[in-house]
Amino acid sequence: MGMTMTQKILAKHAGLDSVEAGQLIEGKLDLVLGNDITTPVAITEFDKAGLTQVFDRDKIAIVLDHSTPCKDIKSAQLCAKARDFAHRFQITHFFDVGQMGVEHALLPEQGLVAPGEAVIGADSHTCTYGALGAFSTGVGSTDMAAGMATGLSWFKVPSAIKVTLKGKFQPYVSGKDLVLHLIGMIGVDGALYKSLEFAGEGVSELSMDDRFTIANMAIEAGAKNGIFPVDEKTRAYLKGRVDREWEAVEADSDAIYEREIIIDLDELRPTVALPHLPSNTRTVDEVAGTPIQQVVIGSCTNGRIEDMRKAAEILKGRKVHEGVRCIVLPATQQVMLDAMAEGLVQIFIEAGCAVSTPTCGPCLGGHMGVLADGERAISTTNRNFVGRMGPVSSEIILASPAVAAASAVAGCVADPRSI
Ligand code: SF4
Repeated sequence: MGMTMTQKILAKHAGLDSVEAGQLIEGKLDLVLGNDITTPVAITEFDKAGLTQVFDRDKIAIVLDHSTPCKDIKSAQLCAKARDFAHRFQITHFFDVGQMGVEHALLPEQGLVAPGEAVIGADSHTCTYGALGAFSTGVGSTDMAAGMATGLSWFKVPSAIKVTLKGKFQPYVSGKDLVLHLIGMIGVDGALYKSLEFAGEGVSELSMDDRFTIANMAIEAGAKNGIFPVDEKTRAYLKGRVDREWEAVEADSDAIYEREIIIDLDELRPTVALPHLPSNTRTVDEVAGTPIQQVVIGSCTNGRIEDMRKAAEILKGRKVHEGVRCIVLPATQQVMLDAMAEGLVQIFIEAGCAVSTPTCGPCLGGHMGVLADGERAISTTNRNFVGRMGPVSSEIILASPAVAAASAVAGCVADPRSI
């Protein structure tokens, strides 16, 4: 029986010729990830189980990104615990303040994920690496602890939805608009425990940064993972980053999908998700004029260099509207360096934005832009749940960098095509 991309990767890592949806397997891991919030919980479980060694210090990544530079005493204690563990086991890929970036932007950038690999991370947006043709998924901290000790994890093999893309984007439309459109179509449980497998000629029209954004938000439709085929753009991205051998995986021609969704990129419009679910989508023209008090441009969803360029293109020579706070968070140190070299940071500062060192910060209502009662933000992040960026009376509208930047200038939700 034919297998999907995900099933082929899982079969290989389980040492099996084939697997089928619903099967329980144990697979070898190429990388185990944790951050400053989840790693301390995993360490507690690791120590409680009496574990005294990690399976491979080169295949564990610990990134202090959520509350760093530490915002309070509690976050400092959590970071200290993760830091001690990383030093205790001489974890090769430990990223502290000064080297760290938002984990899901950082790991691909650092060449820590390659096509065909299997990655677990104690963070739900670990699914981001599917952009590179890898299987990657979020797990709990206990699974992270077991993964760090054994290099193994158990999985229920997912069934799949095939998302076939055709055509090409209109100006100011990007991967964020596509994935919001898709989640709006199928709902936040539309792909529950399934793979979202992207295919079709339209894939080649997507930049790698578009693909990272789309795979990142697969979990917002409940998916186990999102995954793209490997093509020339993937190979170009990997060149100079990954020097170990890797093997691209293609779906079998007779692979079984639960359903196929066809999306014509030409027909997509700038799209936003209104409070309080990523599936509550509208095209931006339907809600233009909605008042906002804050704009956030960054995160593991849209904090990469292409996102910075799209925001800067709109903010160049313009000012953030009076009464609106615009916070820009390049997702990694390298993105910050590139943005500086390209003059983007200057554009942001001259427009009246606050530009931050890499951090998750406001995305989870941690720091660097928490909302007050009744305030509304438009944000390039991936979740707009109740209370995500502040008190339960605050609101988040999810959008692309272009829509967020246009809204910063207009002082309300705005269509970038109208700026
Ligand atoms: Fe999670 Fe937001 Fe950080 Fe991404 S940027 S890892 S969604 S907190």
